[in-house]
Amino acid sequence: MTLRMGVIGTGMIGRDHTRRIQQVLTGAEIVALSDVNLEGARAVKADLAPNAEIFETGQALIASDKVDAVLVTSWGDTHEDYVLAAIAAGKPVFCEKPLATTARGAKGIVDAEVAHGKRLVQVGFMRRFDQGYNLLKQTLENELGTPLMVHAAHRNPTVPDAYVTPMAIHDTLIHEIDTFRWLLGDDYVSARVIFPRKTKHAHAGLADPQIVTLVTTRGVVINTEIFVNCRYGYDIQCQIVGEEGAAYLPEPMAVTMRKNARRENAILTDWKGRFVAAFDTEMQAFIDEAANGTISGPSSWDGYMAAVTSDACVKAQENEGAAIDITYPDRPALYN
Ligand code: NAP
Repeated sequence: MTLRMGVIGTGMIGRDHTRRIQQVLTGAEIVALSDVNLEGARAVKADLAPNAEIFETGQALIASDKVDAVLVTSWGDTHEDYVLAAIAAGKPVFCEKPLATTARGAKGIVDAEVAHGKRLVQVGFMRRFDQGYNLLKQTLENELGTPLMVHAAHRNPTVPDAYVTPMAIHDTLIHEIDTFRWLLGDDYVSARVIFPRKTKHAHAGLADPQIVTLVTTRGVVINTEIFVNCRYGYDIQCQIVGEEGAAYLPEPMAVTMRKNARRENAILTDWKGRFVAAFDTEMQAFIDEAANGTISGPSSWDGYMAAVTSDACVKAQENEGAAIDITYPDRPALYN
């Protein structure tokens, strides 16, 4: 069976997911496209999905009986309505992060999915599908003993002027927030933020770098440096320290060159190259599972937990140095 998919939001990542579904992955076809900017949708159709029908609204695309599964890649604040509509239509939906821009909105999606009685939603936390993080998780589970600490860094060479202090949490740390819950199989109880000396490369509306400390229910302390004007590259680092040893996230593969009395290898400069294989694997998993009527990837509950944690981290930014409690209700059985 070929899964007939519709894309809502044909901007950068919507176009990229369309390309991978049409040209790289198997088992699915893009049959529908929608965007507030219909010209953008038409351009994606012309370049990548000639058989796709253009829908004037995302809601009409979701309702169409030509569409088996929905991909939500529009702006973050529009995700909630589209995901709720897909659940109401009983259709599998892949939603790029964030699931919703508020914890309350994400909880509404959890409640709707629980009422539906079956998982339909996968959230685009692609790091869970990255080979390096999976090897690190295996090493943690088989070799390191009880985890005690995580030291991590998320560095970008530069960010646009519109990127302001809270976006370091909502747009950047959100990936670490989900990844470390998954790696450790644990939830968070508190968040704290401190601001080191500010780089001269950050504009007035951005505190950069930042250090976020998350503490888990079992007492693991996770320190993550967010530094989005680091200049030199896109660099994701993670070290887990356990009772029996420490393990590092593998570096992306790169040739080491010896030349002119130097030994060097290239560092990537953007997230697309760093996680391209993970994006492919996450989307293939969604296609395969949606076709079988079972979704098991990052869930609405994970999206909700990320939103709750993000809110606490932003509050911690506003109260530098203070530990902010992270609270949430019991996890519904649907997500066990
Ligand atoms: P983008 O290039 O701005 O694309 C978003 C598209 O959605 C634009 O074409 C925009 O229209 C359209 N749009 C806005 N409101 C809409 C609505 N109500 N209905 C339908 N379409 C609408 O942004 P992007 O970089 O692709 O990001 C999209 C989402 O993916 C964001 O939530 C982002 O956080 C997420 N993302 C995730 C990752 C990841 O690492 N997993 C990476 C990148 C992005 P206009 O043409 O008018 O702008």
